[in-house]
Amino acid sequence: MAPELTTHTCTEKVCRFCLLAEGEDDEEDDLDEFVTPCPCRGSAKWVHLGCLTQYVKARGDWHDFKCPTCKQLYEGKALCRLAELSVEHMTAEYGKDALQVAHSLCYMAQAKSQLGDARGSKQLLERSLAIEELHNGPDHVSTAATLAELASAHGKLGQVQRQKELLEKSLAIKEQHFGCGHISTAVTLNNLATVHSERGDILQERELLERSLAIKEEYLGKNHVQNAATLVNLAGVYSELGDASRCRELLRHSLAIEEQHYGIGHVETAITLNNLALACGETGDVEGMRDLLQQSLAIKDQHFGVDHVESCLTLANLGMACSVLGDAQLARDYCTRSLEACDCQGRHNSRRRGVVLLRASAVHCALGEASVAEAFTTQALNVLREVLGPAAGSRVLGMEKTRTSRIWSAAGHANVAQWLAMCVTTGYSAKKGDPVAQPSSL
Ligand SMILES: [Zn+2]
Ligand SMILES: [Zn+2]
Repeated sequence: MAPELTTHTCTEKVCRFCLLAEGEDDEEDDLDEFVTPCPCRGSAKWVHLGCLTQYVKARGDWHDFKCPTCKQLYEGKALCRLAELSVEHMTAEYGKDALQVAHSLCYMAQAKSQLGDARGSKQLLERSLAIEELHNGPDHVSTAATLAELASAHGKLGQVQRQKELLEKSLAIKEQHFGCGHISTAVTLNNLATVHSERGDILQERELLERSLAIKEEYLGKNHVQNAATLVNLAGVYSELGDASRCRELLRHSLAIEEQHYGIGHVETAITLNNLALACGETGDVEGMRDLLQQSLAIKDQHFGVDHVESCLTLANLGMACSVLGDAQLARDYCTRSLEACDCQGRHNSRRRGVVLLRASAVHCALGEASVAEAFTTQALNVLREVLGPAAGSRVLGMEKTRTSRIWSAAGHANVAQWLAMCVTTGYSAKKGDPVAQPSSL
């Protein structure tokens, strides 16, 4: 009888180095653990942590943590273990305050951050920064990257003020070294803009994003795909500031870049199409709004499946557009579908659901269905209060009210805008469970 060959099914974990499957090895320690350290898949997906460290050790470069196959940096648990060994190795060879140790500490900090340990990451970066400053002085360009990483760790810990100071220091060092307007400062400007956004300082956010965009356009060209995210963020800022036409202009530009880079109809364009649609609505072009929303929905349907949760806002927006354009039945259908899409993954309360409910309530208000509208508003307020808490909830609500009110007003439905404003103001100041005040005009 022929000997039976060992065959591995594709669901089984097999180490890419020693080719043993899970359970086939006798040693029982943490080096025995299986990890997926990089994007490699198929038979190269799994590896023993022990086999991977043996491999890197044999390779002999304690600062090279890239997978030779996919060329990506190892991540998570694998990177953490490798960087830990690297710190030990470099400390033994060069002493605890050597720059080589600082370099290893940065890798370890990156791994800790990936594993969700922001505090651990912060401590490692502080040690690394201290070593760099010891060797090169406090304002040396080599510290700029570590300062930015440290800023991000503080951000994750909710220490926004410290995050801001560190980013400002990193920016000043880069500008001193490379010159104002250098491309290496563009990312720092973007990150600093995000911090100002979280602090609610929209004018600072705008200034920083404008500076970042100008630098990118000069270095990369006007239509580089890396400009798209900055254009979208800046568009959001202009919308919040009430400048819908500038918002629309920026989103058109971003859409053109994305369509050129990814192709027309690519899923990467779906969000920009949706946002551009709202900007069109805010400037009174509701037919343009509807057309763009239909394009966005078709892409999402194709990519995620029909009426997926990713489509719920686009569906609610279509409800608004159809209601303004006088197609009551279609408007109702879209609202129903948008609410069903929100619930389709069993998560009944989310920020998105709150926003969808609010948009649906305005649609029913415009259709003259006061009791449905009221019920939806009450639900929306409860969901947002529950999911976001009073302060953040009220900010989202304020922005939402401003945006959709502009669309209704631009379309000649000032009554809906007024009603929405009143419901939101009176409803949000009321305690949970209190009824929303009776709207006076419909
Ligand atoms: Zn192995
Ligand atoms: Zn790989």
